[in-house]
Amino acid sequence: MVATVGIHPISTRSGVQSQLEDLKHLLMHPAVVGLGEVGIDCHHGGPLDQQVSTLEQLFRLADPEKPLVIHCRERDMGNLEAFETLFRVARRCLSSRQRIHFHSYDYTAQEFQQWLEVFPFTYLGISTKIFRPGSEDNLTFLLRHIPLTRVLLESDAPYQSLPRRFHCRTTSSTPNMLRAIAERVADVYQLPLDAVLWRTGKNCCSLYRLG
Ligand SMILES: [Zn+2]
Repeated sequence: MVATVGIHPISTRSGVQSQLEDLKHLLMHPAVVGLGEVGIDCHHGGPLDQQVSTLEQLFRLADPEKPLVIHCRERDMGNLEAFETLFRVARRCLSSRQRIHFHSYDYTAQEFQQWLEVFPFTYLGISTKIFRPGSEDNLTFLLRHIPLTRVLLESDAPYQSLPRRFHCRTTSSTPNMLRAIAERVADVYQLPLDAVLWRTGKNCCSLYRLG
């Protein structure tokens, strides 16, 4: 079992200094393979200037060889305030060699291409969010522009379940929902399910240097 540790943007309201000290120590543990989730959340997070200040301090702890898990969420769809803020702070504070897992990606191919030009060692996390109404067309378009070698599958458990048509018994997501995500990704790439599961597993091992 390995883990990543971070300070989530919705938890940056107070007492961050002592958490940063704890984080420095945790990052030295051999089972901690990355820093995150960290990022910007305009939906549930506190004041943006406070989030930016915490993020700058978190980015100072980043090691380019140890993946950063990025969380980025907008106040509402069609708004890029969180993404643009995150991108600006990242460009200022991170090395372009930084290994990155852009978790539960929810933007278009255009934003990802912009991001990749600055941070070429970024992998794209695909979660159950892709089944949200309106997201499926975007996913198809996005994945047509991204090689499968840069895709990771994630459940983001317990936060996002599958839609009703999957007849799930839970309202929260669980790791076994990765199969439904993999099936959808396989559909877009026109590949067998096993090939997608194998490739995305390899991608994860490669990014986090596991096994
Ligand atoms: Zn998240």
